[in-house]
Amino acid sequence: GDDLGTIPRQDDFREDVTLPSGWYQVTNASYNSVGFDRGHNTPSGDRDRTVEANSSTFLMTNMIPQAPQCNQIPWARMEDSLRRLVNMGFEVYTVMGSYGVGGTGSSGFANTIDGGKVTVPARIWKVAVVIPDGNNDMSRVNTDIRVIAVDMPNINTVGSNWKTYRVSVDAIETATGYDILNRIPAAIQTVLEARVDNL
Ligand code: MN
Ligand code: MN
Repeated sequence: GDDLGTIPRQDDFREDVTLPSGWYQVTNASYNSVGFDRGHNTPSGDRDRTVEANSSTFLMTNMIPQAPQCNQIPWARMEDSLRRLVNMGFEVYTVMGSYGVGGTGSSGFANTIDGGKVTVPARIWKVAVVIPDGNNDMSRVNTDIRVIAVDMPNINTVGSNWKTYRVSVDAIETATGYDILNRIPAAIQTVLEARVDNL
């Protein structure tokens, strides 16, 4: 809840000049006329307490080429739903990522954009751990909490209902090779990661 406020979208998409020297810097123009949105990893709407925080979400290092329908409909609605939980008094920890190569935007299929410099992912996932608001967060993580995991195809024909893309955390771990939620005690992790949210 400390990250949410009323600051308007800064919309200052820009290259990330803090990258190590010699690294290619994706620019705002890298996404011109490619048929993919500049899809935020950390959403703008999750960081609107200060201008600085909101502006930081518009660095191009926070973007992936995301099919416009995916970005604007199911993914955006899922993000809205998670913020609604925060406004209802929950604390929500999120981690997201993407995997695979090739997506279908408004101009058709592509493996890369920006002259091959930016990979278009095939799938986009997010895991949200929902706990009641409070202090000492880990103490409120138990097998009764809600964990919402989604895995969507990066295609313009994606369905509009984000809830149909819910999966287990275990499924995302299998697909990506990551151990997600690895700071949660193993016995609790096992239970939470096998479940598919259905509320
Ligand atoms: Mn697991
Ligand atoms: Mn795990």
